[in-house]
Amino acid sequence: MNIQQRITFLFTAVCAGILGIFMLVVYLSASKNRANEFYNILEKEAITKVNLLTETQLDSFTLQTIYRNNREILYEVETAIYDDQYNLIYHDAVDIDFVKETPEMLSEILDAKRIQFTQEDWQVIGIVHHSKGMDYLVTAAAFDGYGFSKLNNLRSTMVITFIIGLVVIFMTGKYFSKNSLLPLSKMSEEARKISASNLDLRLKEGNDEIGTMAKTFNAMLERLEKSFESQKQFVSYLAHEFRTPLAIIIGEVELSLSKPRQAEDYQQTLETVLKDSKKIAQLSESFLDLAKASYDKAEVNFQKVRLDECLIEASQKLQRNNANYRVELDLDESIDEGTITINGNSYLLSTAFRNLLENACKYSENNSCKVHITSIDKKCHISFSDQGVGISIDELDDIFKPFFRGSSRELSEGSGIGLYLVEKIIQLHEGKIFVDSEVGKGSTFTVIL
Ligand code: ADP
Repeated sequence: MNIQQRITFLFTAVCAGILGIFMLVVYLSASKNRANEFYNILEKEAITKVNLLTETQLDSFTLQTIYRNNREILYEVETAIYDDQYNLIYHDAVDIDFVKETPEMLSEILDAKRIQFTQEDWQVIGIVHHSKGMDYLVTAAAFDGYGFSKLNNLRSTMVITFIIGLVVIFMTGKYFSKNSLLPLSKMSEEARKISASNLDLRLKEGNDEIGTMAKTFNAMLERLEKSFESQKQFVSYLAHEFRTPLAIIIGEVELSLSKPRQAEDYQQTLETVLKDSKKIAQLSESFLDLAKASYDKAEVNFQKVRLDECLIEASQKLQRNNANYRVELDLDESIDEGTITINGNSYLLSTAFRNLLENACKYSENNSCKVHITSIDKKCHISFSDQGVGISIDELDDIFKPFFRGSSRELSEGSGIGLYLVEKIIQLHEGKIFVDSEVGKGSTFTVIL
């Protein structure tokens, strides 16, 4: 069952429930009113008969004849009159005698002054009436034929109205649910047209709730489009980065194979090939790291790691390839075991630290980096300081972008993805990275974990 059908059925059910309850209340109240009114009529009839007998001295026979004649065509009231000694004074029709007045009943009437009850479909009333200095016990009973037929008519009208109402409510519900969901259908129609090739398409935005949803959806599309674009850009950068060293390798090899050469020439070619192959290997390693750092946190193996150990590992790895690089580690005494141990991935953290150490060394004349580890507010602050060329204010905003290489790129080789990777790793560990730099004086990168 789709939403439109669900709304229609729910709407119909709720309206039918309300209508049904409303009709039931009306019917019950009409039925109660009929009974009360009929008891009043019975009382008046009873009093009239007593008065006719006692005050106008009308004889019993005339009264009984009127009763019998009326009974044929009308729902005539059957009346019985007793004196206070329970002696029968008058009865409309002793032979019929629908209500059997027992002494108990009469004494109950005398005590209560007025009783009423139903016998089969008949309503019965018993009253004490005072006339001409005498107390009379009167019972009056009749079947409210008119009242019941009016009630039956009302019931039939209600049932028919209810059925017609139900159909009208259902049709109205269907119309409104269809109309109110129309913008949603239009929206899904528009959304269906959006694919990877036309991510620039947007949904129509309105001012209602669906409009707000379209706005949210458009904002999501905006983000998707941006990330899609940057992915595309990234892939083309990637291809470019690989192409350059590969083109050099191919060119060098082709050149040396074009004619027989001296051993030194081959040696030189092989050195160039080795250099560029190393570059490709380093690049692919960086991209693998980047892929790992871009994972969802849940997919990366996180466990307790000591940040100082990661730093030592990073500096050892760095110095293994660059013997002239100097790394000075300074661990603040105040730092405790709990702060220096975090939940993280030691491989990724070492990679990030190695990149920061490498940058500090390669962009400074003395090829050295000072690392200071301290604890502030139970967080580990690691600063990587160098006395190198520094970074100009214009470049500071871009250094974390992929493939960005600053004006200092002349000093050393690189791919421009080091800091991008560092930032991703730190973000994966829910940490922060800041940079403070002055051209000609040096830079300090601070990582908070
Ligand atoms: P790469 O070092 O391969 O060029 P990175 O992403 O590591 O790429 O760094 C981006 C740019 O930021 C570098 O090209 C350089 O201009 C600048 N940079 C990073 N670290 C330093 C540093 N410690 N001193 C000076 N410049 C730096």
